[in-house]
Amino acid sequence: MTIYSTTFFAFFWFFVTFFLGITMGSFLNCVAMRVLSGEPIARGRSHCMSCGHKLGALDLVPLFSWLLLKGKCRYCESKISARYPLSELVLGIVYVLVLAKYDLTLRTLELIVLCSILLCVTLCDLDEHIIPDRFIVIGMINRIIFVVISGNILEELKLSLIGAFSVSLPLLILSLILDKILKKDTMGGGDIKLFFMAGMYFAWPVNVLVLLMSAIIGIVFGILRKKNEEKQIPFGPAISVGFFLGMLFGSELVNLYAGLF
Ligand SMILES: [Zn+2]
Repeated sequence: MTIYSTTFFAFFWFFVTFFLGITMGSFLNCVAMRVLSGEPIARGRSHCMSCGHKLGALDLVPLFSWLLLKGKCRYCESKISARYPLSELVLGIVYVLVLAKYDLTLRTLELIVLCSILLCVTLCDLDEHIIPDRFIVIGMINRIIFVVISGNILEELKLSLIGAFSVSLPLLILSLILDKILKKDTMGGGDIKLFFMAGMYFAWPVNVLVLLMSAIIGIVFGILRKKNEEKQIPFGPAISVGFFLGMLFGSELVNLYAGLF
């Protein structure tokens, strides 16, 4: 089935998907925060980070509540970071772009779950410089579910494993060698695990491209962050953006490159 059969149908699906994206974005901000703070995820309503006041139903409307409240808590007037509405908006747009590219398919569903996990990884890595293992595990389980659904289990599993190891294994070896030479931790284990997990979703040439793009994006992020006097560069966000670009343009770019020879 295609969303492009009529203009109305396309608008309808884009609207629904965008709304789903910003709602998930709002939920995942909360998930990331609770994972970092060790709070149980399924416990009660969200509360203001400053005054602890429970948020009402109106405060929970993604994107719009922040705009209506002009970025301040309704109860204590403390500022609410623009990061929340921004990440909600980003996930809404990400969902729409994945739908635009993959249409009404299982692959769309699979990839928006991956994008949601990448958002959690990005938020956690920006805040605490860690990539919690549970997001890696959830990402692997999601991929395996779709491998089973595909009905072509052995072939899909083989491709997934080749994809996963194609970049994570060379990175692991490289970082072990560099650790020995430089006598310090050069690359976070979380970054390598992230490459393994997200690598399961794509063919190995796409993953190699993602690795190159992530390195470039990471360096750009690093330069931008230097002005904020941050010492460590969290690579999780760069890798996440790299994989997102990979899912949108990866196979086209790989084909373009292959066509040159
Ligand atoms: Zn408050």
